[in-house]
Amino acid sequence: MSDHILNLCYLVASVTFILGLKMLSAPATARKGNLVAAAGMSIAILGTIFLYRNTETGEYLHNYGWIFGGLVIGGIVGTLAARKVKMTAMPEMVSLFNGMGGACAALISLVEFNHISKEMSDHPNGELIQSLQPTILIIVLGLIIGSVSFSGSMIAWGKLNGKVKDYSFSGQNILNLFILAIALAAGAWLIVDPARGYLLYIILALALTYGILFVMPIGGADMPVVISLLNSFTGVAAAFGGFLYDNKVMLTGGILVGAAGTLLTILMCKAMNRSLINVLVGSFGGSKNAIASATGTQGHFKEISVSDAAMVMSYANKVIIVPGYGLAVAQAQHACHELEKILNDKGVEVVYAIHPVAGRMPGHMNVLLAEADVAYEKLEEMEQANEEFKTTDVVLILGANDVVNPAAKSDPSSPIYGMPILEVEQAKTVIVNKRSMKPGYAGIENELFFQPKTSMLFGDAKKVLQDLCAAVKMV
Ligand code: NDP
Repeated sequence: MSDHILNLCYLVASVTFILGLKMLSAPATARKGNLVAAAGMSIAILGTIFLYRNTETGEYLHNYGWIFGGLVIGGIVGTLAARKVKMTAMPEMVSLFNGMGGACAALISLVEFNHISKEMSDHPNGELIQSLQPTILIIVLGLIIGSVSFSGSMIAWGKLNGKVKDYSFSGQNILNLFILAIALAAGAWLIVDPARGYLLYIILALALTYGILFVMPIGGADMPVVISLLNSFTGVAAAFGGFLYDNKVMLTGGILVGAAGTLLTILMCKAMNRSLINVLVGSFGGSKNAIASATGTQGHFKEISVSDAAMVMSYANKVIIVPGYGLAVAQAQHACHELEKILNDKGVEVVYAIHPVAGRMPGHMNVLLAEADVAYEKLEEMEQANEEFKTTDVVLILGANDVVNPAAKSDPSSPIYGMPILEVEQAKTVIVNKRSMKPGYAGIENELFFQPKTSMLFGDAKKVLQDLCAAVKMV
């Protein structure tokens, strides 16, 4: 009876994962989607703890002290970390949590191989070994993918919080492929000859090294692709865990995470103009020469005052706001929404142009603006916005830089060359708000700032927006 209830728990959990994922695809329902999936996960976990029975002995789980001890410690650490994290540090946290998932998958492989080894030494016969080979294949794959995901995510975490610097050397891709090939060969050997248990630790070391080397050379602008790719790795590794334990909910959850991560990776690749193969061999990142050449010259730029900017916007028919990372840093989303409403009251049409990698994580701007109650219909995706810039009077750029850099289209030596951008220069007037002439994430100069139709409005985004609101009201 308890087995049937457990299966029902898993079915309910699987359905909530799918529903939750679907709800996560729109900002209006995303928060609820997260809760729905979390509720499903709680059902699956509690169901397993209280209803799972060992298939051979028929015993229930008993070591509740360890289980709940782990749950409480993990729950407290996770809750505190999630409460403390700033919106801008979210990708770091995603990386860290993702790495933990990878580590769990790798540990499952290590533990399960020990069980199998024990079984084989208790009953040493060829038939048993043969029947266990498919399981060992899953163990090896889970170990490799989980370990790569763990060490890669830790490096990504270090890079995002600025502690780890980009590092590359010539022939790195070949070395990476070589390490991966040896790990796979060792895995094949272990499957053929499972008595060589030490191979498992060699595979672990090689996979961890591959993960580090694979992420080390990656340039800033390519980080989103790597993070979502590592995310998909963790999903796949967890799915292998589901296979090992014949646990359907783990399998479904892993497959969903793996598929969602892969889809996001493909979308990110498209948004950043990277091929997936290019990502897989770890050969991307802007070349140092390109960065050096692109940060070279500074031209002349014009400044605009808050009152003049307010005047220009008040008399416009249409204003497109381009939010970027600086808006998130300044926590200026509410002031931004306020300006939108004031302009609306004056009969000015206002919409937002959202670049897929604006900010520091996929969907960063959508989440930020949704938090300030900006209507979802007002957010335009890049393709749509690019159609509309030509008929727009004023583009107001708020703390965005790389995502509006025309070098992505015109300068083949630029590290962001080929990345689709918001073509703001097609509008009649461009106003750029940032604090200085410093470059953005990719570390390169932006020629947009020196174009005749562009005016710089220096200052912290929140302060500038508050001043703009007051000034527009006065017009
Ligand atoms: P950028 O990092 O290119 O530029 C942000 C700009 O904001 C800076 O030039 C900075 O200039 C300005 N700024 C910082 N603080 C403030 C503030 N308080 N008020 C006003 N301005 C401020 O951001 P974009 O959004 O244009 O581009 C995103 C970049 O991040 C891309 O290169 C993308 O590839 C990368 N990335 C994206 C991820 C994603 O998934 N979305 C993940 C990881 C990286 P100043 O210092 O002069 O104020």
